[in-house]
Amino acid sequence: MSTAIDVVGLHKSYGDVHAVDGISLRVATGEFLGILGPNGAGKTTLIEVVEGLREPDAGTVRVLGEDPHPRNRALLPRIGVQTQSSAFFTRLTAREHLRTMAALYGLGDREADAALERVSLVEKADARVNKLSGGQRQRLAIASALVHDPELVFFDEPTAALDPQARRDLWRLLLELKGDGKTIVYTTHHLEEAETLCDRVAIVSGGRIVALGSPRDLIGEADPRVQLVVPRRRLDRDTAATLPGVIQVDVEGEDLVLTTEDAGSLLTAISAAVGLDGIRTRTASLEDVYLDLIGASNA
Ligand code: ATP
Repeated sequence: MSTAIDVVGLHKSYGDVHAVDGISLRVATGEFLGILGPNGAGKTTLIEVVEGLREPDAGTVRVLGEDPHPRNRALLPRIGVQTQSSAFFTRLTAREHLRTMAALYGLGDREADAALERVSLVEKADARVNKLSGGQRQRLAIASALVHDPELVFFDEPTAALDPQARRDLWRLLLELKGDGKTIVYTTHHLEEAETLCDRVAIVSGGRIVALGSPRDLIGEADPRVQLVVPRRRLDRDTAATLPGVIQVDVEGEDLVLTTEDAGSLLTAISAAVGLDGIRTRTASLEDVYLDLIGASNA
């Protein structure tokens, strides 16, 4: 599989703050990578160095096979960047802004208008940029990052200011981009969102990667237990305790909660005993893994 981003031994300090303190990371072409971590962990700095906006103190960065710093003209048409402080032509309308962005890439109005449509901003096309709401401006920043159809896209907290509907729309757009084979790197504080969208997540703390893997693997490694929730009217507590693989049985309201590390065997046994109707499964979430890791690294 080809490599979109290759970072080796990266360091970046601001004075005596080691914002990025030795990060190595490879992102495959077509991968959707989430970068997670608490405020001040170094996520934005890492992304900005990879984008070529900041010069690393040490280490190497290759983006689509190129060195992104200093500003690499060969890369500009191939990457899209949405930052927390994306620059706008504030006196222009949303449509004019995007048409200007498109023109910078040698593209026409059609591409600009298509980008406006992709982020559902058509009804605000004639509104001045400085009159847009925070979420609308964020959608415009996303459209600006996509206007030239780049193969690699960076988003820094793209869903932060969005209302629930706009967030869902953006998720759909991100998955469409992934479906088109684009490589996506994004930061977020929404762990459930990252769990749903990302192929892999890197959890960053204190300028270092403290965990890297698919959400499913990270969750499985941190806590292999699964809970099966069975209505109490279907199964009594004593019988539940004798089923294969049951580690613990708890009562929660009208339900029994059976904890196991072998969900397959237990489900087979429950199926044979009482059937599977109304049975729900619960696993740990990425948020559980994250909170454990960040709690431990701050301890
Ligand atoms: P957030 O989730 O709050 O956006 P982050 O993980 O993106 O945080 P960074 O913005 O990379 O974190 O900041 C990492 C560290 O570097 C922080 O301690 C921050 O105060 C410091 N820092 C960031 N930018 C600068 C700068 N331009 N000058 C000095 N220090 C900076």
